[in-house]
Amino acid sequence: MSATSTTEETGPTQTGPSPDQPVHAPRDDARVLGDLAPEQVRVRFPPSPTGNLHVGNVRSALFNWVFARHYGGTFVLRVEDTDAGRNLAESYQVLYDSLTWLGLTWDEGPGVGGPYAPYVQSERGDVYRDVAARLLESGAAYRCYCTREEIEAREALLPKGAPSGYDGFCRDLPAERVEQLESVGAPSVVRMRVPDGDIVFDDLVRGEVRFAAEHVPDYVLVRANGEPLYTLVNPVDDALMEITHVLRGEDLLPSTPRQVVLYEALARIGVGPGRTPRFGHLPTVLGGGNRRLSKRDKGSGLAEYREQGYLPEGLLNYLALLGWSIAEDRDVFTLDEMVEAFDVLRVNANPARFDPRKCEAINASHIRLLDTTTLTEALVPFFVSADLVADPPTPEQHALLAAVAPLVQERIQTLSEAVGMVSFLFVDDAALQVEDGLLTAQSGPALTAARDALAGLETFDAASIEAALRAALVEGLGLKPRLAFGPVRAALTGRKISPPLFESIELLGRESTLARLDAVR
Ligand code: GLU
Ligand code: ZN
Repeated sequence: MSATSTTEETGPTQTGPSPDQPVHAPRDDARVLGDLAPEQVRVRFPPSPTGNLHVGNVRSALFNWVFARHYGGTFVLRVEDTDAGRNLAESYQVLYDSLTWLGLTWDEGPGVGGPYAPYVQSERGDVYRDVAARLLESGAAYRCYCTREEIEAREALLPKGAPSGYDGFCRDLPAERVEQLESVGAPSVVRMRVPDGDIVFDDLVRGEVRFAAEHVPDYVLVRANGEPLYTLVNPVDDALMEITHVLRGEDLLPSTPRQVVLYEALARIGVGPGRTPRFGHLPTVLGGGNRRLSKRDKGSGLAEYREQGYLPEGLLNYLALLGWSIAEDRDVFTLDEMVEAFDVLRVNANPARFDPRKCEAINASHIRLLDTTTLTEALVPFFVSADLVADPPTPEQHALLAAVAPLVQERIQTLSEAVGMVSFLFVDDAALQVEDGLLTAQSGPALTAARDALAGLETFDAASIEAALRAALVEGLGLKPRLAFGPVRAALTGRKISPPLFESIELLGRESTLARLDAVR
């Protein structure tokens, strides 16, 4: 934390809804919209292109998108890449691909354009220079010539407990002094002149939030080298892009009072429509312990979920639960249902813990909801990248995948799990590896009996296979079902656990079944 972010120590005052309040307070669109018509709602998702999207950011994107769709408003994608050193060209594409995969389509932004283009901040340098000049001219901002050493030396002289941060030394430098400094080319930053008085706003999630002005020092808008900072460009673009609502993570709450001050200054100099957006700070997402889920934590990056075979709707459903729920008695819902029911005033302010197991379970529920065709298509890329089918699959491979889909549907939590579970259907008989320890000398009689029973079958379907195997192994050899079918499963699938055995054998077909039983006997 920099010395200027003092809200951590003092904490803003909040009077949010208490957690015990009934969840179903009546919708209060007047509080959310004020005098806006619903379709005038304009929200934004402003990520930095740092590569893999953090799931906390995905949650912010989701809530903004749902909010926009609920009211029939506009969802803007804006890329905040003024910190140029960190951005790799492919990170932009990762960002666009990620949102597209999630289905969080944007109405304005890179690729689609819009009335406030460009939407990539590195292309908006002129805009920021112009606004900074106007802020200086109006007196809302001023040039500060202090070196870091000078600021720190003065800070060291302050009495204990005094608000820290920049002391306003250059606020009212005499004109001659400024001229003199400029004539020798003294470097300067641009600072915001933060007015006295408390900064108060009605947070749509947390209720009234109040910051004492003494904890909001005059902060830097433009670096000495002319680079505009996040503190400037983010509110300037919100103003110019006529953003009406800002839903974002609670970690950004300390910067909100500075932004509120800037929006008000921008309104006075005629930048944007002169309206400060309404804020809603979404609850912190906790990882292990009581720490925020950090970029370094496993499970924090979107790419992992895609690779493991999460469905976008499953992941989004889980992320919605980090702060919002459709009902007390129901966790699983579609994006459409969420759009219909979403109410930002029902977002809970309490930190939400990221629970990977629950996330997986919600995803599993969404897999169960798919029809066979959709599930088959969703499985294809996983079988392609495992080299089990051609790209695209041959018609036979496709038909086999379609037959497999209903067998795995109730058994997988993520799509990638299907690969290991049914790879036995896609490999050559000779290439099948049986996991160690599944077959022993005692397996012999069961395998022989199974082979004989199956060889003689007239119709090779699951029901006939089951009847034949039960007759031969359970009744014939007097084996308990587990001992009877375990070796057969191992010989045919290579694994201890598989989709239902008799259906699997039907899909494997007579020829492969007999070949595999012969090979291990
Ligand atoms: N670029 C900022 C971030 O990704 C935007 C924060 C905001 O929503 O205002 O943290
Ligand atoms: Zn100064």
